[in-house]
Amino acid sequence: MNHTAASGSSDRSDQLRANLAQVEERIAVACRAAGRDRGDVTLIVVTKTYPASDVRLLAGLGVRNVAENRDQEAEAKAAESADLPLSWHFVGQLQTNKARSVVGYADHVHSVDRLRLVGALSRAATAEGRQVGCLVQVALDAESGAQGERGGVAPDAVGALADAVAEAEGLRLDGLMTVAPLAGGYAGQPRAAFDRLMEISSRLRETHPAANMVSAGMSQDLEEAVAAGATHVRVGTAVLGVRARLR
Ligand SMILES: *Cc1c(COP(=O)(O)O)cnc(C)c1O
Repeated sequence: MNHTAASGSSDRSDQLRANLAQVEERIAVACRAAGRDRGDVTLIVVTKTYPASDVRLLAGLGVRNVAENRDQEAEAKAAESADLPLSWHFVGQLQTNKARSVVGYADHVHSVDRLRLVGALSRAATAEGRQVGCLVQVALDAESGAQGERGGVAPDAVGALADAVAEAEGLRLDGLMTVAPLAGGYAGQPRAAFDRLMEISSRLRETHPAANMVSAGMSQDLEEAVAAGATHVRVGTAVLGVRARLR
């Protein structure tokens, strides 16, 4: 049984190593095509639905940034991985009553999309004596004043929310995040969506020059994100495999 467990884990490690090498090659090729330095793009591996043992193997393979989208799952995994040199990113829709838990382990929250959440994160970070990097999530498919289907604020609300983050104690405004829309005018047009995000980012940096993180691109569309100028890509499936449940 020990033998099975050991060889199972080394099989998994080999698989993750091979998948990581493929993703790394895709990022490198996309950077070359765009005339960008490979060092300007950070890979964040999205480990949602996969066990803490995979997080440990990934850390052993050199991964330094991981992301989760559900607090309950993330909190347990981060606790099991506390000895590893990892930065944790929270990328899911976030309820205000989870803010305290999330600031306990997350270095970055990519899904800041409303004022109430800014307040909750600020109070929690201040209580913990922490500073949390925040990205405003942009919903490119949302109408003015509305929320996106999968979280995020409409582009015209980004400025006010970013100002609120920048002024909030315990929070640092680091940039913007988006998920390529499945519906609306940008459906099936990830490059156009990411170009739009870059425009919004350029405008944001006129007033907040340090807010230079642009989190965009997943397994399906990381090349388009790198071409557009993303600084962080969030890749799950291409590293860990197809998730058992859709979430
Ligand atoms: C799951 C998820 C990802 C990763 O998606 P893949 O298609 O598995 O690469 C990226 N960003 C967010 C916000 C996610 O929820």
